[in-house]
This record gives sequence, structure tokens and C-alpha cells, in this order.
Amino acid sequence: MLNHVIWFKKNLRVVDNATLLDSKYPKILIYIIEPQLWLQKDMSLRQWEFTLESLKDLRNQLSSINLHLNILSGDALEIFKDIHLKYGIKKVTSEQETGINWTYQRDNRIGQFFKSEKIAWQEIPHIGVIRGKHNRDNWAKNFHKEINKPILTTNDYFKSSKILEIPNFQHPQQFYDSTPCPERQKGGNENATKLLKTFLDFRGENYQIEMSSPISAEQSCSRLSTHFAFGTMSTRVAFHEASHRQKELQGTNKNFVRSINSFLSRLHWRSHFIQKLEDEPSIQDKNFISIYDNLRDEDEIKLKAWIEGRTGIPFIDACMIYLRNHGWINFRMRAMLASFAAYNLWLDWRFYAPHLAALFTDFEPGIHYSQVQMQSGTTGINAIRVYNPYKQSEDQDPKGFFIRKNIPKFQEVPLNLLHYPENITPFEEQLLPNNWIKPMVNVNQTSKFAKDRIFSLRKMTNHKILAKSVYIKHGSRK
Ligand SMILES: Cc1cc2nc3c(=O)[nH]c(=O)nc-3n(C[C@H](O)[C@H](O)[C@H](O)COP(=O)(O)OP(=O)(O)OC[C@H]3O[C@@H](n4cnc5c(N)ncnc54)[C@H](O)[C@@H]3O)c2cc1C
Repeated sequence: MLNHVIWFKKNLRVVDNATLLDSKYPKILIYIIEPQLWLQKDMSLRQWEFTLESLKDLRNQLSSINLHLNILSGDALEIFKDIHLKYGIKKVTSEQETGINWTYQRDNRIGQFFKSEKIAWQEIPHIGVIRGKHNRDNWAKNFHKEINKPILTTNDYFKSSKILEIPNFQHPQQFYDSTPCPERQKGGNENATKLLKTFLDFRGENYQIEMSSPISAEQSCSRLSTHFAFGTMSTRVAFHEASHRQKELQGTNKNFVRSINSFLSRLHWRSHFIQKLEDEPSIQDKNFISIYDNLRDEDEIKLKAWIEGRTGIPFIDACMIYLRNHGWINFRMRAMLASFAAYNLWLDWRFYAPHLAALFTDFEPGIHYSQVQMQSGTTGINAIRVYNPYKQSEDQDPKGFFIRKNIPKFQEVPLNLLHYPENITPFEEQLLPNNWIKPMVNVNQTSKFAKDRIFSLRKMTNHKILAKSVYIKHGSRK
């Protein structure tokens, strides 16, 4: 009898996993380690290490319900050809992946092979993300219908699977980025479940107010992004648990109720952003609006200084160093880092975005590329937000605690210079450590230059027409 292959991609969990629903064919569960994927320019060692931990956890969870995960390594198409030849495939089920160009092309090649061999491919959509033609006006309604469906449990799943005779899997040998990440979050559903529980029990109480500063955000944000990105936490489970907790707190803790509201909205945004890439895969390397083509630079020296935390702007550098060491930073600081690259360093987002993505353990292509374009002002439909790093520094790290923790050599640097390094007097200069770097750009001048350029393009007559078509296709409906 022909087999039904369950292909795990980025849905590395047992709970609420629709790929495990029963069908009439014998099952083969696989995960494919694709060395070429890990060489893509937004992929990194930190993401792989998280994947490996999650795979081990998934394998254990599956084995506790008598299912076996076969982990293979190589080119996915060749692997499917091989399995088909040796065992025969009738059907493949996987998640519906909204990934980078490379995975999109890979899925196209595999889809053609399945078609030629009359193998059915069922792709389970990510919550609320619609493939193919759809009306943007009804999108939110569909999201809520999907997210409110009951959680799938092991009772719903098939009960046995085959063990393939395969060699031990090979770890990817090379990564586009292998920056060490000593404080990286650990993978696996158990860790994800703990994070959700502590967030809803107590950590999230002041989430709404504490999410902006990198000092409080580390504890007060859910920190679930990497688990959502690799599917070690189901968005539906998080939504259900959070809604339940919100009901419990109603009338007793206003703050917490509001915070959970903000969290629930973000789960909605998550799918909303992934939908953009699903609808228009080219937004990974094309401006939403072509008017912004050929506008900015590809300056290697500026890029290197920014990505290594050496711009001479202490708060920017501290945020970048924190990100390099943790694989995560809060939303506002991500926006500020992106804004600084796009406006103050005048770098093309296509040039800097993959480097930033590789530092995020939680890299999610749909969110990342849309956000980077938003923060660079190239979507045409979002307000232009140029973050002032000096204001952010004073607002979010008033005592310089975060800067000094992440750049210990600044321990003795006076607070006013940490916040405003451009205002330095010759006397103060003598008191600074030898390796103090002067700001590589003047923040006010570069911000003004950038705003003038962007707003002059916004005034072009065809900008309005192009922006309208972006809104119709991708804009959030209130
Ligand atoms: C330039 C830039 C790049 C980004 N790249 C990514 C990325 O690659 N992967 C990623 O998951 N997030 C990305 N974000 C969005 C956001 O910063 C992170 O999701 C968030 O900081 C993750 O921390 P958390 O899990 O504690 O989030 P919480 O604040 O606890 O939010 C809960 C969840 O909601 C989703 N979410 C939160 N904020 C947003 C948002 N603005 N848009 C869409 N979904 C959101 C995430 O899945 C997150 O885990 C990016 C933001 C910017 C400005």
C-alpha cells in the first residue's frame, strides 16, 4: 500500500498540529535538514541550534504517542524521489509555508514532482493566512473563525507510523551567519509552554507599558516569537489561553486585561503580516512602491559598523550588542535599529535586512520584510517614523543602565555623553576611554536629509495611485 508522508517544516510540535490528523494510508513522518537552506543570507547558526533542540523535543513527544520522526538530510526533492522509489507515496501533508524566496522555489520544484507522480499535496494554512485569490475586506473575519477553532489534541491523531531505514542525519556544515549567541532562547514545546504560562500568570501584567524599554521588555513581553516562528507554540493555543486568562482577570485587574488585549492584537498582526508575503512574495526583495527604487546606498563600511554595534551612538550600539548576544530584542528597539540604518545611515533595506534577520532567532520572513520596509518608509501606506536614538536613549534607558550593561567599557562615561555623544567638549573628551568611538553620523542632519528625500517622493503624483493599490492589496482594515 502507498504511504502518506507527513512533512514537518516549521510546525515542530505535537499539540494542535493538523498535519497529524488521521487518513487511510500508512504514515511516514519526516523532517528534512536542507544544507542549502542554511546558506541563505537570512539564515543563521542560532536559528539552526533552536531548530535542533526543537527537533529533539518533537521526536520525544512523538515517540510518547508511538509515532516516529525520521530526520533526513539533503536536497528535499531528491529525498522525496528516493522515498517514492523505495516506499511509494500517495499523499504528502505539510504546513503551508510562507517563507523566503529559496523555500518558495523549493516548494515549486517539489510541487511539480508531486504533480508528475500524481502525489496529492495537502498544505495546512497558517492561522488566517489565505493562499490564492481572496478579498482583503473579509480577512479579519476569517482569522477569527480560524483562531477560535478547538485545539487539536493527541486523541485526534493517527496512532502509528513507519520507521525508515536511513543513515544518521548530518548537521548543516555552514551558515550564512554564525555569530555566537550566548543568551539565546532554547527550543522545544516545553520551554514555549512555560513562557506562555509565566507570561499569563504574572510576567505580562504590565506588558502594555513595559514593552517599549529593552530593560523591562525582556521580562514583560511574552518572548514567544521564536516559538511561533518554529511552530513550537501554536498561535491558536496562545490565543485560547490568553483569552481564557483575560476572562478570569476581568473586573479584578484592569492593567493585566489591557495587556492581554495588546498581546491578542499582536497575534492578529502576526498573521496579517505573513499574509502580505503570501500575497506578494517579491516584497522580500522589491520595494512595495517602485518610486523608492535606487534611492539609498549599499555602503559596506556603514553596514559593518551598524551590525557590529560600532556606530558611536551608545544606545544604538548597546541595542545591537544585546541583539547579537540574545537573538532577540523588543519591537521598539528593532524599529529604531532599522530606522537608523534606513534614515541616518541611508542604507537600502534590501542590503541590511538579511543581516538583521540572521541575528533574530525568531526570524519570520513575512513579519521581517514587511516591517523593515515599513521602517524604511517604502510601503507608501504607513506613516514615516524616523526614530531619534538620543530621545529613545533618554526615554527607554534614563539611567544608562542598559548601555553600561551591554557595553561595560562605558561604566565610567558620564550619563549625558551616553545619551548625547555629539555634544562632547574637548575637556570631556579627555575623560573618555581610549576605545570610545565618535558618532559616525550627525543624527539631526541625517534625519532631516532623509525626511526631505522621502517626503519629496511622497508628493509625486503617481505616489498616491501606487499607494492606493498597496492599500487595497495589503492594508489593514479597521
Ligand atoms: C524591523 C523589524 C523586524 C522584525 N522582525 C521580526 C521577525 O523576524 N520575527 C518576528 O516574530 N517578529 C519580528 N518583528 C516584530 C516584533 O518586534 C517581534 O515579534 C517581537 O518583538 C517579539 O517579541 P515577543 O515574542 O516577546 O512579542 P510580544 O510583544 O509578546 O508579541 C506576541 C507575538 O505577537 C507577534 N508580534 C508582536 N509584534 C508584532 C508586530 N509588530 N508585527 C507582527 N507580529 C508581531 C509575534 O509573533 C510575537 O511573538 C520585527 C519588528 C521590526 C520593527
